[in-house]
Amino acid sequence: MNTGLAGGLYVVATPIGNLGDITARALEVLRGVELIAAEDTRHSAVLLRHFGIETPLAAYHDHSAQRDLQRVERVLAGGAAVALISDAGTPMISDPGYRLTRFAHEAGYPVIPVPGASAVVAALSVSGLPTDRFSFEGFLPAKAAGRRSRLEALAERVETTVFYEAPHRLQEALSDMVDLLGADRPALLARELTKSFETVRKATLGDLLDLVMADANQSRGEIVLVVAGAEPRDRSLDTDTQRLLDLLAEEMPPRKAAALAAQYTGLKKNALYQYLLERRGE
Ligand code: SAM
Repeated sequence: MNTGLAGGLYVVATPIGNLGDITARALEVLRGVELIAAEDTRHSAVLLRHFGIETPLAAYHDHSAQRDLQRVERVLAGGAAVALISDAGTPMISDPGYRLTRFAHEAGYPVIPVPGASAVVAALSVSGLPTDRFSFEGFLPAKAAGRRSRLEALAERVETTVFYEAPHRLQEALSDMVDLLGADRPALLARELTKSFETVRKATLGDLLDLVMADANQSRGEIVLVVAGAEPRDRSLDTDTQRLLDLLAEEMPPRKAAALAAQYTGLKKNALYQYLLERRGE
């Protein structure tokens, strides 16, 4: 079938709730491709029916049986256009797509993005938090020990961080964040974005935890948490400490000078040592 679409793998974003968010290009591509590889064919059939799209569907996820993957691969190998969609939003963003896009690159087929909705970007866009740099953490580990050690590892990060969270784990996750990131951190709880019960709450982590504990409705549905980064540490040393370090460094190696100054000032040896290294231009 010649649909006018060049062959290759089209990675197509679909809405995260409101069907009005599908793009005109996504509809054109989904109508024009020979096959749509979908995370869940029954789920996607509802979306396609809504838009009157009759393109055949094939099941695809990152743990698909070799047989399913081969069906998609055969169509690509014939020079046809194939679309990849997930249940909602952008494929590959906490969703399947890795194996197929990697395969398409390795086999030399064009891989074409058809961008659209994604909960991470939607939540960030209304967060009122710095977005010049941000980290996307996806889902935190489900078990408390794993979640806490992940949060500990990112407690000092200065950039805004985005998390996806399951409704039944929201309260525990917020409670661990209050514990490990601090109750005063500004954050945003974005729930059911683009849907009827959409709520966007900007508050501190502590206040968001109180809100969720007081009202079970606040942990229903699909959830994104956007958390402000840590305040950057003031690494500058006062002038007396600098003078002390400069004098000591004239008489002894920097590591020893830093150790002595640390004993005298009670400051961290490593910070003092770093100062001396920077002073020497290292
Ligand atoms: N691929 C999707 C995307 O581009 O955002 C994400 C898929 S991931 C399996 C599903 C998670 O995304 C949900 O548990 C929730 O954390 C977040 N999410 C998806 N849709 C959302 C919505 N409408 N409102 C808030 N969070 C949403």
